[in-house]
Order: sequence, then C-alpha cells, then structure tokens
Amino acid sequence: MAERKIFMIINEKMAKAINDQMIAEIESAYLYASMGAWFDEQDLPGFAHWMKKQASEEMEHAEKFQKYLVSRGARVRFTAIAEPKQEWKSATDVFEDTYAHEQEVTALIYKLADIATELGDYATKSMLTWFFDEQVEEEEDPLAILTKLKKLGEAPMALAMLDAQLGAR
Ligand code: MG
Repeated sequence: MAERKIFMIINEKMAKAINDQMIAEIESAYLYASMGAWFDEQDLPGFAHWMKKQASEEMEHAEKFQKYLVSRGARVRFTAIAEPKQEWKSATDVFEDTYAHEQEVTALIYKLADIATELGDYATKSMLTWFFDEQVEEEEDPLAILTKLKKLGEAPMALAMLDAQLGAR
C-alpha cells in the first residue's frame, strides 16, 4: 500500500488547539455519561436518557474536530482524559454543572476562533461557525431544564413529570 503523504497545511499552533478541543469534547462526553449513570442510580431514566444522548452528541463533536484535523493534514493525538465528577446533590445540582460546563465550552470555542483570527486561518473560522450555532443550543437546553427544576422544585411528582419529558428527547 502506498504511503499516504501528509502535508501539514494547517498551522501547528492551530492544529494543537483543535486537538485539545477534540479531547475536551470527549471529556464532556465522559462527564455526561457519568451524570447519566447518576440519574439511573436515582431511578430517573428520562434524565439519564437525556444525558446519554448529550454524551453521544459530544462524541460527534469530537469526531467533527478529528475529521477536520485529518482533512487539513494534521495528525490526531488521543491524550489522557481526567476522571469526571461522579457525585451530585440533586438534579438541579447536575443541571447547574451542565449549564456552567457548556458556558466553559463556548469560551473554549471562542478562544479557538481567536487563534484562527490571529493566524488568518479562515478555513478554521468557517468550520467553527457550526460550533458557534451549536453552542447556543448547548447552553439554551440545560438552562431551560434548570429553570423548570427551580420553578417546580424536586418533589417526586415534579421530578416524575420532568423525567417523562426528558425521556422523549
Ligand atoms: Mg460539545
């Protein structure tokens, strides 16, 4: 088999930053999988389902970054990821974390765009626009759930109602 020629057509600093983001997306998936398991333990299968869907979306985000790196001639590096949080006090506590986490992810995506701007890398900026839009939803959805949790409280009936709603995701 002919050896595939790899041309480094993307700036090294940019490629490293995108690779870091790919890992951050996998870390997000790991966190949401941990939250999903926690909800299963609380006997809230709808909440658990929502989190597991979220986890698989994060893996899709990682995949997008990975494919982009390859398309730009960069190597993809899978580095060690940190252990996610495993314990929460309540469903509200989980969604506080989820909302805060997505705000952090948005900040990371914006930082990537800053690097792309600094380097005049318009291809990377264009690729990132999908993530700008995606992050609006990624913040909006957990905030809406958090707002409901705060409004309804966590009495069994309220949780059961929300659990049924989230199970339909
Ligand atoms: Mg993501």
